[in-house]
Amino acid sequence: MKAQIITIGDELLIGQTVDTNSAWIGAELSKLGFDVCRRISIHDRREDILNTLAEVSGKSDIVLITGGLGPTSDDITKQTLCEFFSTKLVTSREVLDMIEEMYKQRNWPMNENNRRQAEVPETCRVLKNAAGTAPGMWFEKDKTIFVSMPGVPQEMKYIMYENVIPELKKRFSSQLIIHKNIMTYGIGESSLAEILKGFEEALPEEIKLAYLPAYGIIKLRLTATGPDKQLLENLLQQNVRKLYKIIPELIYGEDEELFEAAVGRLLKERGTTVCTAESCTGGKIASMLTSIPGSSVYYKGSVIAYDNSVKKNVLGVSAGTLEKHGAVSRETVEQMAVGARKLLKADYSLATSGIAGPDGGTEEKPVGTVWIAVSSETGTRALRLRYGTDRVTNINRFSVAALHLLWKEISGR
Ligand code: AMP
Ligand code: MG
Repeated sequence: MKAQIITIGDELLIGQTVDTNSAWIGAELSKLGFDVCRRISIHDRREDILNTLAEVSGKSDIVLITGGLGPTSDDITKQTLCEFFSTKLVTSREVLDMIEEMYKQRNWPMNENNRRQAEVPETCRVLKNAAGTAPGMWFEKDKTIFVSMPGVPQEMKYIMYENVIPELKKRFSSQLIIHKNIMTYGIGESSLAEILKGFEEALPEEIKLAYLPAYGIIKLRLTATGPDKQLLENLLQQNVRKLYKIIPELIYGEDEELFEAAVGRLLKERGTTVCTAESCTGGKIASMLTSIPGSSVYYKGSVIAYDNSVKKNVLGVSAGTLEKHGAVSRETVEQMAVGARKLLKADYSLATSGIAGPDGGTEEKPVGTVWIAVSSETGTRALRLRYGTDRVTNINRFSVAALHLLWKEISGR
């Protein structure tokens, strides 16, 4: 069951509009068990549309198309579809009635352009669009189903939910695709792939493994495909259990769980609290932790100790330490963590001090260097890490690394 997606619109190619339709359609088709093998974005240009349609015809079971159905002259998808399917435009009484009713209700005058919205290719099946004026169109040629829908996301979704998805479910019911994600942290993608080589080789043919990295977090996505739901779920469960055996220290959660949510979950389970003292991350960790609903139960607050005077006067870092070791050092970050924990009365504290860049590095402490510390009743631990030169990426990576250190401390892994 193969599917292709074509999105039409100049605005998509010049980056004015992000092609969210493709992503949304891809996700929906995947849930139905389709292998979405290609997405193509093209101009509102007759030759481009004709060439693309010819290229995909007969090569997949379905082709879903969005865009270019507006009433203005820049939108030419409808006329071009007529050319491709060797048919002509005729007025659909049903669509015209709907448009007239909509305009009457809104007290808008109808013009020629609006009436043209009711013209549809003679040979297509018209798909009602109650969210707008341009209907969807269903064609079949060379054993391929073509569906053309408006570019406006709500209108496209309406037609998908009302017409396309139910019809596809009826006609292609044999395959299921089920995903299961395992969230990992603490090792690079290629090293992880090395460790999981044997696991991957032993996977049954129904299951595929993908590595999806972001800021040091690697999402392992297991995708099971086949007709038997129970079998797929059992196979997924068995393989997830295997992963827990092979890399227990790297798995922090499942599905789309964020690190900040996993840390919050652990704190809540244990009835403990945390606070933060952030220099180079400037409140990022606080923001991540508090983005989780219910975090007020375990998150106390933060001191954004950006300037040395705040490290000294609020957190109690000693002047001698700052003088001798500098702000980006084990000694400073440990004292920050200890100071914050006392000041904010939390079970754990997390502190960061580093050089996010792009300037401010030295030979000894280059841009991308960070010291992070976690402190609790049992002691204080600090860690030096080194990332790249991009400021935003560094702040994200420092924050995730700090949350990881806290996660290890709480979970004892
Ligand atoms: P159209 O059907 O070409 O008149 O598109 C109408 C509007 O829908 C455009 O102005 C875009 O803002 C939006 N749009 C079109 N195509 C897409 C797409 N692939 N993803 C998200 N929005 C889109
Ligand atoms: Mg357009």
